[in-house]
Amino acid sequence: MIVMKFGGSSVADAACMREVAALVAEALPQTPLVVLSATARTTDTLFQAARSAEDGDLGTAMELHRGLMARHRGIAEDLFPDGLPEVLDNALVELSGELDLLLRGVALLRELSPRSMDAIASIGERLSTRILAAHMGADWVDARTVVRTDATHGSAVPVFKELTALAGTILAPLLGPGRAVVTQGYIGATAKGFTTTLGRGGSDFSAALYGAALGATDIQIWTDVEGVLTCDPRVVPEAQPIAELSFAEAAELAAFGAKVLHPATIQPAVEKGIPVTVRSTRRPHGRFTTITGEVITGRSITALAQRGPVTVLTVTSAHMLNQSGFLASLFQVFARNKISVDLIATAEVSVSLTVDAGAPLDALLEDLAAFATVGIARDRAIVAIVGERLKLTPGVTGRCFGALRDINIEMISMGANEINLSFVVKQDDARPALRALHGALLESPMVAGAEGGRR
Ligand code: ADP
Ligand code: ASP
Ligand code: MG
Repeated sequence: MIVMKFGGSSVADAACMREVAALVAEALPQTPLVVLSATARTTDTLFQAARSAEDGDLGTAMELHRGLMARHRGIAEDLFPDGLPEVLDNALVELSGELDLLLRGVALLRELSPRSMDAIASIGERLSTRILAAHMGADWVDARTVVRTDATHGSAVPVFKELTALAGTILAPLLGPGRAVVTQGYIGATAKGFTTTLGRGGSDFSAALYGAALGATDIQIWTDVEGVLTCDPRVVPEAQPIAELSFAEAAELAAFGAKVLHPATIQPAVEKGIPVTVRSTRRPHGRFTTITGEVITGRSITALAQRGPVTVLTVTSAHMLNQSGFLASLFQVFARNKISVDLIATAEVSVSLTVDAGAPLDALLEDLAAFATVGIARDRAIVAIVGERLKLTPGVTGRCFGALRDINIEMISMGANEINLSFVVKQDDARPALRALHGALLESPMVAGAEGGRR
């Protein structure tokens, strides 16, 4: 079997839904499990409605609710001009009622817990999948009966063993050549039945989880670009599709902000050795990217990514000099405050680290003040250069610094895995930095350090 995941822009309207249905029909002999995102902008709208309700602005929340339901009904009516099938009509009425109740509950209490937010966010994927399944005459499965997770609402962690067992009992019997099954990405449920989500962009992760659980031969991520490109095309229009990527390169790119793949997507695929392909719904027979563990690309530089805003903390302490336990106690403070660190650079008496701009820092800073002084630089971005043979290729750093000569580099980190070189710059400098690096490194490729090929 294969997994075909379609992102929000691939199911934006009725025309897109028809295209998706045609692509799935073409793949029917391969036994596709179709994993769908909410339609374009829907998850954002649901978040907005939830926040309006929390602010006590039920009027705005209800207006957003009406707009959302009208848009979905419009798509459904376009696909069924002679009237909606009863199951679809009932599902739309039911989901509309559920969203109405949830938003009123939030507004009444003026309280939006992560659990309530997940329940509200789940409506998007449940709507889009109902419409596509009805249009295709395919089986519809509620992902919450399969994707068992822990209770970390908003970024739930899948319980893979249970998920695999549930996929075996619930999904496997429905799958077969010539049939398609449609289910939701992004959402799951705890053992107690509470709805959870896997974090924004999490449908890619769902696709990989389903693929790993069911032993897929291919996990296809269908989106609005022709695969993984050498940089975000919105930043660098000259960016080119990459035909083959190693798991390590793809994981690194995703972790450093290449939105085309959710960062957790690669892991289940790596564990089962399943290739992930990234394809374009707009140009389905055009170029695409294959990500496997088999590839030795031999490239010194594969792609660029950026992540931001981040905050740089520079921790300075005289105790650090000749003190073996300093770093251990420093990271204990971060662990205790549940703040994750991305990049680190150390000097004799100071350590610089980057944390997500949204990380709550008050308690952390208080703890650190006990033994160090802390400098804070906000509105920074990480610019990452990823390539399998980065470290082995002479002259790479020289070319990077040359390209960035007009940009102030505030921190540098060479990933211990040798495939990423990262710079911290001011957020406003990130785009010019990416353009300069892309021009210097990827538009006139360096001679790779070794021949590429397959292992
Ligand atoms: P979907 O809704 O299909 O999940 P996303 O918007 O999440 O789509 O991801 C696709 C977008 O990711 C592209 O439109 C592109 O702007 C962005 N992107 C960022 N970095 C890259 C990259 N290296 N290659 C391709 N796309 C990228
Ligand atoms: N609909 C969710 C989001 O917008 C999940 C996804 O599209 O992957 O974040
Ligand atoms: Mg996405």
